Formats: sequence, C-alpha cells, structure tokens
Amino acid sequence: AFEGLTERLQKAMRNLRGKGKVSESDLRATMREIRLALLEADVNFGVVRKFVKKVQERAKGADVLEGLNPAQQIVKIVDEELTKMMGETAVPLNKSDKIPTVIMMAGLQGAGKTTTAGKLALKLKDEQKARPLLIAADIYRPAAIDQLQQVGAQVEVPVFSMGTDVDPREIVEKGMAQAKEDHNDYVIIDTAGRLQIDEKLMDELKDIQEMVHPDEILLVVDAMTGQNAVETAEGFNDALDITGVVLTKLDGDTRGGAALSIRAVTDKPIKFVGQGEKLTDLDVFHPDRMASRILGMGDILSLIEKTQKDYDQKQAEEMAEKMRENTFDFNDFLDQMKQIQKMGPLEDIMKMIPGMANNPALKNVNMDPKDIAHIEAVIYSMTAQERENPDILNPSRRRRIARGSARPIQEVNRMIKQFNSMKKMMNKMSNGNMAGMENMMNS
Ligand code: GDP
Ligand code: MG
Repeated sequence: AFEGLTERLQKAMRNLRGKGKVSESDLRATMREIRLALLEADVNFGVVRKFVKKVQERAKGADVLEGLNPAQQIVKIVDEELTKMMGETAVPLNKSDKIPTVIMMAGLQGAGKTTTAGKLALKLKDEQKARPLLIAADIYRPAAIDQLQQVGAQVEVPVFSMGTDVDPREIVEKGMAQAKEDHNDYVIIDTAGRLQIDEKLMDELKDIQEMVHPDEILLVVDAMTGQNAVETAEGFNDALDITGVVLTKLDGDTRGGAALSIRAVTDKPIKFVGQGEKLTDLDVFHPDRMASRILGMGDILSLIEKTQKDYDQKQAEEMAEKMRENTFDFNDFLDQMKQIQKMGPLEDIMKMIPGMANNPALKNVNMDPKDIAHIEAVIYSMTAQERENPDILNPSRRRRIARGSARPIQEVNRMIKQFNSMKKMMNKMSNGNMAGMENMMNS
C-alpha cells in the first residue's frame, strides 16, 4: 500500500537534496509537489491544506532555508506533521473496571466487522489471556451468523446467537446475560451493516448502545474506499459518538487517503488496522510508524517487534547485546538467515528496513530455501575461528572456503559483502538514530 504516495513524496523532497541552501521558491515548489501527492492519494482537501500550511510555517520558522541540511530537516518536519495528522501515538483499547468490557462493532456492509470481531477476539485471547464472548447481532444477512460462528470456531471463542428471527436488541440483551453468567471478560457485538448509512440501521445501533453502554464503539471502515471511508466515519460518529476506528484492507491497493484523513476529520483515533484476511492480520495502529512507512523510511519498529515475536526472548537479548558490542559474527549471520526464513516472505520483511522500502535492488533479492542452503554450505566451510573473526577472511581463505563448499568464489565474496553490510546496518540500527532518514537522503 501507499507506494504511489511514497514515491511522489520522496520525489518531491529529492529536489532539495544536496542543496546547501534552499530558496523560498525551492521550498514553494516542494510544497506544491507534496500537496499534489497528498491530494492524489485521496487525502481530504481541508486536511491537506492545513498540513501544507503547517509544514511551510515550520520550515520557515526553523530557518531551514539557512540551515545546514535543509532537505533532511524538511523530511523530519514532514514526518512529524504526518504523524500528528494521524494522531501522534497509538491509542489502546478501552477497558472497563468491571467485567465484561463491551465492544460494539459498527460499519457498512462488507467493511470487515465480522472478520475484525474474530481478529480482535483472537488478539485479546493471545495477549491478555482474555475469555471473550462474541454476540451475533446481524440478523439481516442470511449467512452472517454462520460466518461469525465459523470465525469463532477458528479462534476458539464462543459465539452467542439466537438465529435470524429475533430482534437484535433482544439478542444483545440475552447475550449480555450469558456473558455475565459465564464470567466472560470481554463481549464483542457483531452488528449488521447496510450498503449506506440509513435511519433504521442507526436507530438499531443507537438502541443497542443505550442498552449496553459499550466501553468501545469501534467503527470498521474499508481503507480501499478512500474518502468514502472518511465520510462514513463522519456519519457514524455524528450518530453514535464512536470511540475508535479500525481501518481494514490496508493490505490492498490503497492510496493512503483514509489512513491520513480519518483522525484529522473525525478527531477519533484509528486503533487498529487490518492487513489481510487471516485472523492474525490485525495490528495496533502507530501513527509514527505509519508516517515513516508512508515516507518510505521503513517500519523498523514493527520489524523489530516481528522479529522479537518469533525469536525467543533470550535470543533476542543476546542479539541486541551483540549489536551493541558490535560482535556480530558469521554464526549469528546464519542464525539470522534461518530466523528470517522462518518469519515469512523476505520481501515483506526487507520492505520494513529503512532505505529498503523502495529500493530497486529489492526486486533482485530472491532468498529461496536453496540460497539459504548455499549460505549454510559456505559458512559451514569456514573454521570456527573464521566464523567468529570474519576480518581474517583473506583471498586464500576465501578460495579454500569456495572449494570446500563447492560454491563459486564470487558467491563467497558476495556473501561476505552481504554479511558486512548487514553488520553495518545493525550497528546503525542499534545506535537508534535517524538511520532511516540518513539512508533515505543519501541513497
Ligand atoms: P462485514 O460485512 O462488515 O461483517 O464484513 P466481513 O467481515 O464479512 O468482511 C468482508 C470481506 O472483507 C471478507 O471477505 C473479509 O475476508 C474481507 N476482509 C476483512 N478485513 C480485511 C483485511 O484487513 N484485508 C483484506 N484483504 N480483506 C479483509
Ligand atoms: Mg458481518
């Protein structure tokens, strides 16, 4: 997602690169490009106007034009303002003091309410060892109840339903009673949607809202619908005073407009994003990470989180220690390769690394299991001493390793080079600085 926007924003700012000094007209031209990029990405017009004004003011106020590295400073301002536009920090799910915490899903038909209800139940189970109950209150779509039951079965969460002949209000009332009896700590109510906002739907949702006083009313909107998603959010918010938004289908070919506008327009936080059809594809929304992703600076924190989830804790700590001490060696490299292989498609992972997001070289990276096997062969042909001290790998040692692993010498050289750049990158990452931006500006 967002490739088009990322490319255009980068292009807009590339013009400033290398300039020791930026003239007013350079700045104006850049801002015009940024404005067009955002509008083309279907960001709300008013939001764009405010954004551009803010960035321009700050750029002038900060004396960027006189400063040492104007391009970098402007990237930083754009990054910060994009982050603000999306809400600054992640907002956690509301939680009630006494059980159950009640979450009501709302949204148009097909937005992803039922799927998200299941994803959320799974997340609560996984992360809080919660015992949620799902309530099937969509009686209008014939298959809706079946669908929720299937989702519930998949995530092993009970589903309360009374078929399609009972009024949703009564279903919710009975479902709540059931949850109290069973001491469920969360109740997630899957409601009906319509193709468009209409009175009957809103009345039904408002009645349910008044009955159960949800701790959380999550509006589910489809990111692919761009500005329509924003309008929908406004409509629902006016009627229900929602507490948060879930933006689904961010994995699809979206331009970014919804993600960038919803917070600014409704003043309600995006709490989660759906990034796929699988029930594990629900992520907490982090405005700062999203901004970096949009700017093509990579989503390094998500990468680290993903890595840590698949690493065991001890191993992660060891690796961090190695990065700090700069003692990363070929044994770690091999471990790393195997971990990466376990984590899924390498391309997805590489995209999260700063400077890699739009790196054309990425297109040539193909890391199939065979490659890993070759890397393994090469590393196993090193002596223990060589693995621990890659610096001693002189040409004659390299030739011996090539013979031993039956791989061409060029490949051995290439791999050593890869290793060195990985080490360098890790070193940069561990210094936790603006590696991403530097990378972007220098690439
Ligand atoms: P509802 O009518 O609001 O309950 O929507 P559903 O939960 O039935 O979802 C409608 C369709 O969107 C289904 O085919 C889902 O698999 C799909 N869907 C939901 N969330 C996502 C997402 O984050 N990414 C993708 N690719 N598909 C999604
Ligand atoms: Mg549904």
